[in-house]
Amino acid sequence: MATTMASQAAARGLRTATSKRALLDKLKCSWLSPRRWLNLQEYQSKKLMQESGVAVQRFYVADTASEALEAAKKLNAKEIVLKAQILAGGRGKGVFNSGLKGGVHLTKDPVVVGELASKMLGFNLITKQTPKDGVKVKTVMVAEALDISRETYFAILMDRVSNGPVMVGSPQGGMDIEEVAASTPELIFKEAIDIFEGVRDDQALRMAANLGFKGPLQRQAADQIKRLYDLFLKVDATQVEVNPLGETPEGQVVCFDAKINFDDNAEFRQKAVFAMDDMTESDPTEMEAAKWDLKYIGLDGNIACFVNGAGLAMATCDIIDLHGGKPANFLDLGGGVKERQVYEAFKLLTADPKVEAILVNIFGGIVNCAIIANGITKACRELELKVPLVVRLEGTNVHEAKRILTESGLPITAADNLDDAAKKAVAAIRK
Ligand code: ADP
Ligand code: MG
Repeated sequence: MATTMASQAAARGLRTATSKRALLDKLKCSWLSPRRWLNLQEYQSKKLMQESGVAVQRFYVADTASEALEAAKKLNAKEIVLKAQILAGGRGKGVFNSGLKGGVHLTKDPVVVGELASKMLGFNLITKQTPKDGVKVKTVMVAEALDISRETYFAILMDRVSNGPVMVGSPQGGMDIEEVAASTPELIFKEAIDIFEGVRDDQALRMAANLGFKGPLQRQAADQIKRLYDLFLKVDATQVEVNPLGETPEGQVVCFDAKINFDDNAEFRQKAVFAMDDMTESDPTEMEAAKWDLKYIGLDGNIACFVNGAGLAMATCDIIDLHGGKPANFLDLGGGVKERQVYEAFKLLTADPKVEAILVNIFGGIVNCAIIANGITKACRELELKVPLVVRLEGTNVHEAKRILTESGLPITAADNLDDAAKKAVAAIRK
């Protein structure tokens, strides 16, 4: 149980955690770190794919039903696919709060595209990867549809176990890939890539064969795999996922879906990619926190955690859990924290109506505990703190910090160590 809360917190940092976690668990791969990797909409990812010569279909995007209708007419395709654009996967099997079932629809009639779009746009789409209220759809993609005779799964990820990129594929792709990874892990194939050498021809061909591509399709699939890897490198991706990578009865290998995540550390040299991030699906509290350089992830419980260092934050979440409490968030103040950040962090925590107690757990390594203590007392006074506050400070200048807190006359519960702090915070709620 102890690792559950921590891994939950880490996982929440990644939007599409569920499917990938299942796969990576099976493969004994792991994420590099719980980062907020930039995630683009399918149509944006497909634009990047097109530029790299990857086979995707013609498409338009639309923000209104009439635009969707016009786009469908302009496409002039035998069959059209209409796809809701949200950052979560599982759209095909999702439902809208308009009552419409399915975030992906096929039709031959442009008029139907317009009708369906009016039941998608402005409504929330709920899938197994979204929060329970779903995500509001603001854009739809209108694309040329093709018959798909077979759906495979293909992805390239950064993998800590092999210290580099790894290709993951399955001949059983499509909408139930999580199920495939869980029940038939032998149908998931993995191929580690040497970052200096790139994808070798024999590797690409072997993966294509493992994906079940036969005859000339095998060469075509291998070619697509190589182009996807070139794209992965070019845009500093941490993941390129294509599900399905499909085959058509006419003998084409096509990427029907696309999800690309990017390494935030590469932002400085991927300006065009990062400019596409519209933030509209980001959590407002998380965005406010990011403004102050705080790593914040909201969780379901009622004890707010105010901690420096991701490891200590995870340990704090876990120990609260161990004492029968539930963390309301995961907040990492980072190393060189300033008084203003302490104040802003408190503001975020106290603005959350779920929060019934705050647990401060700071280890002053780089940070001076007195700065934290001053920030806390200032915030408590100005924000008129209404919930119990338990503070555990350790490290640099801790005596001075404790003096500041005691002399403040504020109702702060001091704790001797992490265990004591968690116990006191849980008890404060039970009162
Ligand atoms: P999600 O993964 O969010 O459910 P997909 O883009 O994978 O969304 O679409 C779901 C399913 O819809 C695919 O597995 C595929 O069967 C079908 N589909 C998607 N795009 C097309 C297309 N262009 N032509 C035909 N079928 C498609
Ligand atoms: Mg898909």
